[in-house]
Amino acid sequence: MWELAIASEVALDERSENFVRFEIIMQMLARSLTCLFPAVLILFLLICGAGFAEKKIQKNDGKPLRALLVTGGGYHDYKKQKTILTEGISKRANVEWDIFIGDAAKTKAKLSEDGWADDYDVIVYNLCHAHETDGNFVEALSKVHREGKAAVVLHCSMHSYHWKVPGETKHWPAMLGVTSPRHGKHAPIEVTNLAKDHAVMKGFPKKWTTPKGELYHIDKTWPSATVLAKGSIDGGKKFHDCVWVNTYGKGRVFGTTLGHHNETMSEDNYLGLVTRGLLWATGNLE
Ligand SMILES: [Zn+2]
Repeated sequence: MWELAIASEVALDERSENFVRFEIIMQMLARSLTCLFPAVLILFLLICGAGFAEKKIQKNDGKPLRALLVTGGGYHDYKKQKTILTEGISKRANVEWDIFIGDAAKTKAKLSEDGWADDYDVIVYNLCHAHETDGNFVEALSKVHREGKAAVVLHCSMHSYHWKVPGETKHWPAMLGVTSPRHGKHAPIEVTNLAKDHAVMKGFPKKWTTPKGELYHIDKTWPSATVLAKGSIDGGKKFHDCVWVNTYGKGRVFGTTLGHHNETMSEDNYLGLVTRGLLWATGNLE
């Protein structure tokens, strides 16, 4: 009996010891989990990030789109904008880039080379070469797109390659889809979405005011163009078309006069819009 009592006491002690051990292990586990929480959170976010990356819009055959950004010229921070645009678009769609940045003469030489556009699905122009006078060069450049090469044309592309071209040569504005002779004062632009059901405008708000702005005046929107948004800097008294798509021969073109400031171009609304425009121009978004 005595022995039995001792035995059961020992058993009790062992049980409580085991319980204490269990408690210690649980406390250690809780502490490790607390310490591990940030790591677990980061892992979770990485997994979510990977999921997001997989949701990037793909070219129809799943391979990356090949894009050439042609940029350079005065009045704009093209060095920073080339990074904002290429990185911002590649975060949103499966696009690989080459970048050409140069002054008017170097750009003309590059865009006059035989087959300069052959390796690319799309050419993105974010340039400002307003003083070009060589009509033959501009006609040949426009022809590349008339024969089917997709184009994305941003901001000062609309003031390039036509102001000083002699005669009635209007190949470049016909490619762009608009003719713009000037711009207004610097002020945020209230952009109104005119085509919420168009694939390019899905995801763009009904109205969006850019952080800063330089609204281009549009004297003519070509009949081949479809206007997707208009902009105003005076509370809606006057509007100018500011986002559109155009068909130029066999080529598709997406255009916007929005841009100029890095602050505007860095906005999600801007980068999403240009990304969808690029996908539409290349036939990957209907
Ligand atoms: Zn500008």
